[in-house]
Amino acid sequence: MNAPVFSFTDNLDMGRVADFPILSRPVRDKRLAYLDNGATTQKPQSVIEAESKFYLQSNANIHRGVHWLSQHATDLYEEGREQVRLLLNAANSKEVVFTRGTTEAINLVAYSWGRSCLKAGDEIIVSGLEHHSNIVPWQLVCEQTGAVLKVVPVNEDGTLDLSVYKQLLGPRVRMVAIAHVSNALGTINPVVEMTRLAHAAGALVLVDGAQAIAHQVVDVQEIGCDFYAFSGHKLYGPTGIGALYGRYDLLQSMPPWQGGGDMIRTVSFEHTTYAEVPQKFEAGTPNIAGAIGLAAAIRYVRDIGLDNIAAHEHALLVYGTEALQTIPGLRIIGTAPRKAGILSFVIDGIHPHDLGTILDMEGVAIRAGHHCAMPVMTRFGIPGTARASLALYNSREDIEALVSAIGVAQKLFGVER
Ligand code: PLP
Repeated sequence: MNAPVFSFTDNLDMGRVADFPILSRPVRDKRLAYLDNGATTQKPQSVIEAESKFYLQSNANIHRGVHWLSQHATDLYEEGREQVRLLLNAANSKEVVFTRGTTEAINLVAYSWGRSCLKAGDEIIVSGLEHHSNIVPWQLVCEQTGAVLKVVPVNEDGTLDLSVYKQLLGPRVRMVAIAHVSNALGTINPVVEMTRLAHAAGALVLVDGAQAIAHQVVDVQEIGCDFYAFSGHKLYGPTGIGALYGRYDLLQSMPPWQGGGDMIRTVSFEHTTYAEVPQKFEAGTPNIAGAIGLAAAIRYVRDIGLDNIAAHEHALLVYGTEALQTIPGLRIIGTAPRKAGILSFVIDGIHPHDLGTILDMEGVAIRAGHHCAMPVMTRFGIPGTARASLALYNSREDIEALVSAIGVAQKLFGVER
C-alpha cells in the first residue's frame, strides 16, 4: 500500500460528518462509529431533501403525462440519468438503464443477453471473490442454456490469479463478469487489463461496481467494459435505485427482459414493438424519487471529488491496517497491494458474529459473516469475517473506537492482549 496522501486534520474528515444527520445520533448510549458502509452508506441532508422535495413539489408519473407536473417529473428523472452518465463518463445517456441496484442490473444482462446469446458449451468466467449477485444469475442462465461457469482462483493475499485467468480465456468464453472491488476482501481488481484480455479473446465484460462506485473515479470508457453495474445506496443515495451502463450497440441488440408499460412502442394482440433503449429495459413505473435522490448523491460526491474521497479512505485504511495489526490473535483477510477501504479480519477464539454483537454494544457498527461471498470464505477456510468498511465521513476516531471495542471483546472472551 502507498503512503497516506490525505491529512486527517483536513476539513473533509470532520466537516463532512455534519452533512449526515444520522451520524450525530448515539447508539446504545455511545457515540456511533458507523463502519458498515460496504453494506450501505448513510445519506447526506442534500439527498434526503431532494427526495422529500420531489414528493412535496414535483410528484407525478413520468414519460406518459401531458400535464406540467408529469413533464417536470420526467425532466428530473432524466436529469438523474445524465448525472449517472457524468459519474461513469459514459458517452451517451442512452447507455444508462435505471435498475433497482447492482443485483437487478446483473440479472438484466444475464437474462436478456445470456438467454438470447448463450449456447450449450459456451463459457462464462467469474472470479472466486464475487458477491453472490455476480454468481447466481450466471448459474441460473447456465442451467437454462447449457453454458458453463469457469472461476478465476484467488491468491493468498486476495488478488486474482491472472495467469489462470489468461489460460481460461479460450475460444468458448463469451462473458467475463468480474467485481471491480471485492466486498469481502477489499481487493481492487485490474479491470482495465482484464477487460483488454477478455476482448482480445472475443468475450464481453461486465464489471460489478457495487463496491467501487463511492470510493474511486470510475470511467467506463477507460475501463473499456461492455457493462458496469452499481447501486445508489452504496453511493450515499437511496435504496431501490441503481444503474446498468451498457454499450449502446449491445443494449440495442438485446431483447427486453421484463414486459409492461413504458417499454413498448406499439402493442396489439398480434404483434408488439419495443421502445428505444434505455426505456426498453425499464418496464413499469420506476423509482422516480430514487433516481432524483441518486442524482443528488452524485452531485454530492462529485462536488467533494472522488479522488479526494479515495485519498481520504486510503489514508484511513493504512491507519486502520496498522492499528489492527498490533492486536494479538487478529488476522486480516485480504492483503492485496491495491485495496479499497475494507478491513476484513478474524480473531482467535472469537466467532465473527460474537465479535459483531460485542462491538455493537460499544456503538461500533460493523458486519460479521460471509458477506454474501461464501466461495471466498471457503477459499480461506473460514466461516466468515468481521468487516469494517470505510466511507468519506469516517475518521481516525472511528478506527480507535473499533480497536478499543475489540479489546473489550477480547477481555470478555478471556483472550488477553
Ligand atoms: N456486488 C457486490 C460486490 C456487493 O458488495 C453487493 C452488495 O453488497 C452487491 C453486488 C449487491 O448489491 P445490491 O444488494 O445493492 O444489489
